[in-house]
Amino acid sequence: MARAHVLLLNPALGPLDYRADRHHAVEPGSIVLAPLGPRQLVGVVWEEERLPSAEQVGDNRLRPLLDVYDVPPIAAPLRRLIEWTADYYLASPAAVLRMTLPSSSALDGARTIIEYRSSGAKPERMTAQREQALERIGQRQGLIRELATIADVSEAVIRGLVKSGAIEAVTVSIDTPWPVPDPEHPAPALSDEQQLAAGIVGEAVHARAFHPFLLDGVTGSGKTEVYFEAVAEALRLGRQTLVLLPEIALTEPFLKRFEARFGQLPVVWHSELRQSQRRRAWRAISSGDARVVVGARSALFLPYRDLGLIVVDEAHETSFKQEEGVLYHARDVAVMRAKLEAIPVILASATPAIETRQQAAIGRYTELRLTSRHGGAQLPEIETIDLLTDPPQRGRWMAPPLVKALADRLDRKEQSLLFLNRRGYAPLTLCRTCGHRFQCPNCTAWMVEHRLMSRLQCHHCGHSMPPPAECPECKDQDSLVACGPGVERIADEVAALFPEARVAIATSDSLSTPARAAEFVERMEAGEIDVVVGTQLVTKGYHFPELTLVGVIDADLGLSGGDLRAAERCFQQIAQVSGRAGRGSKPGHVYIQTHSPNAPVIAALLSGDAQSFYAAETEARRLAEAPPFGRYAAIIISSEKLDEATTTARLIGRTSPAVEGMHVYGPAPAPLAMLRGRHRQRLLVHARRSLDVQQVIRDWLGPLSWPRGVRVAVDVDPYSFL
Ligand code: ADP
Ligand code: ZN
Repeated sequence: MARAHVLLLNPALGPLDYRADRHHAVEPGSIVLAPLGPRQLVGVVWEEERLPSAEQVGDNRLRPLLDVYDVPPIAAPLRRLIEWTADYYLASPAAVLRMTLPSSSALDGARTIIEYRSSGAKPERMTAQREQALERIGQRQGLIRELATIADVSEAVIRGLVKSGAIEAVTVSIDTPWPVPDPEHPAPALSDEQQLAAGIVGEAVHARAFHPFLLDGVTGSGKTEVYFEAVAEALRLGRQTLVLLPEIALTEPFLKRFEARFGQLPVVWHSELRQSQRRRAWRAISSGDARVVVGARSALFLPYRDLGLIVVDEAHETSFKQEEGVLYHARDVAVMRAKLEAIPVILASATPAIETRQQAAIGRYTELRLTSRHGGAQLPEIETIDLLTDPPQRGRWMAPPLVKALADRLDRKEQSLLFLNRRGYAPLTLCRTCGHRFQCPNCTAWMVEHRLMSRLQCHHCGHSMPPPAECPECKDQDSLVACGPGVERIADEVAALFPEARVAIATSDSLSTPARAAEFVERMEAGEIDVVVGTQLVTKGYHFPELTLVGVIDADLGLSGGDLRAAERCFQQIAQVSGRAGRGSKPGHVYIQTHSPNAPVIAALLSGDAQSFYAAETEARRLAEAPPFGRYAAIIISSEKLDEATTTARLIGRTSPAVEGMHVYGPAPAPLAMLRGRHRQRLLVHARRSLDVQQVIRDWLGPLSWPRGVRVAVDVDPYSFL
């Protein structure tokens, strides 16, 4: 008898032992079905020494495994990645494993359906209807119902033909194979700079060794074409590639470019997939048929059969940080996966994060630079509009120079983009009479007016309500006013100023599905939109050659965040949105509206001197021993009961260990003191880089206990401080 040590898909449980009999031969990585009480759970066989169990169960008490799935086992590098992720981010291995096995239907044997086609034999008895049916069906194949429609006869006629042998049944797998992208499909001629970089990454794919790259090129420099050459090399070697994108909305434009380069579409993986699509993609990834997978961060943990390359596009994007469930950073886990798989990883960005730049600076990552835009396109000219000296008219948000620039573009039939990182119509609604402000009942947040949907909505928990006719406080009628602008309000302003302009709003509300994002791109490309008003969603990846004007409505918004990365993020966002202008033959122009034109970030954007801005930011981080020079971990305590949250937070604060090179701040109420009806307290751990802060936190929190309704989450390398 063999013992099987199994990690079940239940985050509350450690690995359990089972009995594997002769019919159920298993090895580490085998995906199995195991009994747990009256239930049956999927799990993966694991090495005992890697994830030891708390107690040994005697052989005679072991329950037998129910089944071993007929799919390739989870390979060792991925098992190590799951362990590393669980360890580093203080998550349970089962919670990470769930991301590897997100679809139980994918594990069932290949599914088939029965289709029908002509057998070539003539039926013994021919009728007019039968003759018509066989003639019209010809070589076609389908369900009985489908064939009846094609032939324009009743289903009974088709069934009769099946009985007579003139039509035969065929078994078809619905897991239809994926077409293989063609690396030799005609590629564009690369510039010298591109060629050089492409050669180096191509070599690295060939070398089959861990090699991290930072592909750092200004917006529009053709980074995609460069890493496509690395993808082509992986295809030639028959190996798989994973391309991670920060947003589902970016998938559509990527698919088009990919198809143009390789003649076929890649396999897509994201949260919006239907169950059948998910199943088909997972099986193809696991069998190796899916050669190139493009996906959101969850694609990172899938069981690739033979991964040869990982690309993280727009690698600076903070949306790679997962803020729910397992709190991991996909960029960092991607590098770790590449290391464990012994393959190259390419982080592509025009505005790399300081963490990434630092890795390049100390020589851990190879930096590849693209210094000019493709085809001689110039970077846009950038100027500021000082809102103090050049304010917008009362009740308006666009200052006169921006309005004039917009008018010019409309005259010239060029496209414009107005950037404001605020969804909805107005971020705050208040009563003019009594000053009452509309707050979410579940969160420390204002209700945001969405005029298009005619709702007030909380952006944290989704709570929404119709805009009330009267103030709930003083009962005054029609006294509510919208304060401040959101994208909808800017779109209204454009419509009022230029009634003939065709305006589109681009936010996660309006481009919520890949199909809607695709439609938006099509309308932009067809010139059916004159002005886009968008949030951070439009700062990424898009390439619209006719777009020549970018207006940043409120640059100060990004500066006010106050956290560690506020200035860096503000720089990245404005540099990225500016990078959408003038990508074709016409020059681009950017106007930045701000109250502080002298802020270092704004000065750096104007002068184009990113290097000294980054140098100053990096130095400030070094002095503060902030990441990447030191580490942070946040401990977030939440409960529906205020006193339970504060008591637990105090307990954790009181028991914080004295460790050389580590300091604990808090507890204090979180800036988002209430979220989804839960009261929140935070502690921030600041530690020296060399300290194993995860182990310290495990030893610290491990022995503590708190009431059942309290949740304690540890956010290692936090990006949100709310
Ligand atoms: P980035 O990702 O660096 O912002 P892109 O890869 O989107 O830049 O390239 C910008 C535009 O230039 C795209 O339309 C791309 O197809 C085009 N392009 C880049 N390199 C080449 C090339 N060598 N030949 C033809 N077109 C190119
Ligand atoms: Zn809320």
